Amino acid sequence: MDFHKLNSLEKFKEVWSCYGYGENPEDVLEREFTRIKGTVYLDHAATTLYPESLVKNYCLDISRNLYGNPHSHNPSSRLTHETMERVRYRILQHFNTTPEEYSVIFTSGCTAAIKLAAEVFPWKSQIENVAGSHFCYLTDNHTSVVGIRGLTSNRGVVTLPVSPQDVENRAKDKAQSEDAVCQTPHLFCYPAQSNFSGTKYPLSHVEGIQARRLYPACDCRGQWFVLLDAASLVSCSPLNLQDCPADFIPISFYKIFGFPTGLGALLVRNQAAAMLKKTYFGGGTAAAYLSGEDYYVQAANLSDRFEDGTVSFLDIIALNHSFEALYRITGGMQNIQQHTFGLARYTYMLLSSLCHGNGQPVAQMYTRGQFDSPNTQGAILNFNLIDSHGEIIGYSQVDRMASLYNIHVRTGCFCNTGACQSFLGITNQQMKRNLEAGHVCGDTIDMVDWQPTGSVRVSFGYMSTFDDCQKFLNFVAECFVKKPVAVDHARIERLKAASASNEETTVNINEVKHKVEEKKKVSQNGIEPVHLSNREGSYTLTNIYIYPIKSCGAFEVHSWPVGPQGLLYDRAWMVVNGNGVCLSQKREPRLCLIRPQVHLSSNELLLQASRMNTISVPLEIRNEMHASYPVCQSKVCGDRVETKDCGDEAAAWLSDLLGQPCRLIRQSPDFTRCMKKKSDTAVNSPPLSLVNEAQYLLINHASVELIHKVMSSRQDYPELNTQNIISRFRSNFVIAGVQPFEEDNWSHLIIGNIQFTVSGQCVRCQMVGVDQNTGSKTKEPLMSLSAYRNGKVTFGVYLTHQLQDSLKAGVLSVGSHILPQPQAS
Ligand SMILES: *Cc1c(COP(=O)(O)O)cnc(C)c1O
Repeated sequence: MDFHKLNSLEKFKEVWSCYGYGENPEDVLEREFTRIKGTVYLDHAATTLYPESLVKNYCLDISRNLYGNPHSHNPSSRLTHETMERVRYRILQHFNTTPEEYSVIFTSGCTAAIKLAAEVFPWKSQIENVAGSHFCYLTDNHTSVVGIRGLTSNRGVVTLPVSPQDVENRAKDKAQSEDAVCQTPHLFCYPAQSNFSGTKYPLSHVEGIQARRLYPACDCRGQWFVLLDAASLVSCSPLNLQDCPADFIPISFYKIFGFPTGLGALLVRNQAAAMLKKTYFGGGTAAAYLSGEDYYVQAANLSDRFEDGTVSFLDIIALNHSFEALYRITGGMQNIQQHTFGLARYTYMLLSSLCHGNGQPVAQMYTRGQFDSPNTQGAILNFNLIDSHGEIIGYSQVDRMASLYNIHVRTGCFCNTGACQSFLGITNQQMKRNLEAGHVCGDTIDMVDWQPTGSVRVSFGYMSTFDDCQKFLNFVAECFVKKPVAVDHARIERLKAASASNEETTVNINEVKHKVEEKKKVSQNGIEPVHLSNREGSYTLTNIYIYPIKSCGAFEVHSWPVGPQGLLYDRAWMVVNGNGVCLSQKREPRLCLIRPQVHLSSNELLLQASRMNTISVPLEIRNEMHASYPVCQSKVCGDRVETKDCGDEAAAWLSDLLGQPCRLIRQSPDFTRCMKKKSDTAVNSPPLSLVNEAQYLLINHASVELIHKVMSSRQDYPELNTQNIISRFRSNFVIAGVQPFEEDNWSHLIIGNIQFTVSGQCVRCQMVGVDQNTGSKTKEPLMSLSAYRNGKVTFGVYLTHQLQDSLKAGVLSVGSHILPQPQAS
């Protein structure tokens, strides 16, 4: 049976019968989540989505009721106080416990809750040979837990990271006898569910640790407390505190409900509360204190004592509506768990069985089990895709293609370095080397030395549907599988049988490592030779484009002056929305319909668009005009830039065209923003205009023709001519090259009499899908580029000019000869 027949709702129902909540899931989407239509949202582990009825009911509530500050005692504040008490009760009920057993302390989120627990924990320092407290944590923890180390490491507390295997191995040890003498408190932290892999750790560990049966089996004496990080687990699963009396449970509410954000809680077991040491006492936390003498008596009520200042009371009130909507739509967490696990399991089965035409698997799955039970696995899949030669495709490439399909996934290390290292087989030394190679958490450097620095995570939420799985799987098959698409049927049957045996290991790190070693050997023999046939005379500059307004239409010129920041007036202006945020074609493709022209002789920038009157803005703002052009601050690619507003007429013109309040702004002439240094080759940080990356972008006509050919050979896609393709790549220079992509191997080049350094390759995204004539979007040419370059989506190179004496500004003209210099090998 072929892949597309396998990937159907009937097949899904054969392996998992729980789907939806009685009502057709599509109807729920139609009613409550119209805003996600057309989007495949698979990042619920980062935040899930709120239903419309939740925010509507909440708005009605706070519009009609008078809620005062809960610390006052007037009628409006009593209403707030009582509503909040009800919410606390509801939270405890949700986790099947009561105010007699647990207290709810509101925080700004899970991280803040963890930090609070660590700050008030009564750590004992080691004094001479009297043992101190231990801080013990699973390596598969979120950064927010590992960060406790910053509080303990300088206090004589023993820090003990333990791997999941260590804990497993100790799980069968016998209970230690009660330790009545030693009261030294120790803290063990583990996630109820890994936010990386979705692995659920046994809740029974809580009692095991408290009874000193588990790691580190406490040769060290004292009392063990458990912090159970439930942030990831509770988003799609029930948590019953009767089964696991953890002492501290931090959570974030947006992960369960999508709304409100900025609100979390620390659930504290009342038994453990007495020993906690509050040091700071802020608004509302004291029963009594003196301002002139060191006298402070803490509030008797635990919540009052630990909530410094006024809590976010309107958000807490929103929680009532969050609970109401969640239960109304789904019937509760048990149902959500069944529904989301089914989707994850199905996706896992197909993705892990998907093969290239040559039989090689398509995905390397990072999971501990086989998705056989919702008791051990949550609705999260983590993986890297592999090409037909067995090499890993960097997560950024996957991310970029997914955006093209409007599929939203998460990539990187997920704030969980421990899990990332263990699954991907990255040593501590390699982690440090990756940083030296310029890789930081959350960036797009997905491979260092042919090894992945992170992976791809797909996660489901209660409103996810089968359609999401199907679209995601079809996307992988379409973009990353060497045809014909094949399926390992034997594997599917094995997984279906869902045998409890977990013998088969999915993490085959050794095999991948082997490939990496081979690759390294090749590279040590030197860079592949560059073929530069017929160097002189073959290369000419055929087109010059400037883009006066960032992200708007091109202005083609024949001959143009070069200024300190690149071609004169290239990206000197940009359009910002009502909140002052820069607009780009990613979100507003109609920007390409604006066709600006620069007239040097009359000092004018003309704004043109069809069916609009042309208006003019001065190129240079003269001193006497400054008052009418107020200074503003903006950001371009994370850099602060100083800009000037270009006035109400331009703003009205743009707002009219784009149908939202916008303004035109210009980079301040006396402001310099410099290129970020990426490598040693970048000549001392050249100044930039409002471009994203570099002064110039060059593309090669030979590469365009090649992509054109690849596109034409693929069916179902609109025929685009080469000029259309050229315009989508939005370059400054088009050259007539010889070989496609040969410019990737150049280190320098001379155009006319100006010398340039190649500062990097241009990584493409879905923006090249915008037809620059109409503003409509297509998946091409990114599809063909990715297919041809095996997942790599760079096209063209960035250039930086080298104007020796900066006074000698040059001029560039179409027809100039180009002299490329290949990289030294
Ligand atoms: C999300 C998450 C956190 C951090 O939550 P914040 O809301 O960012 O404070 C901590 N631990 C786990 C397991 C998580 O999934």
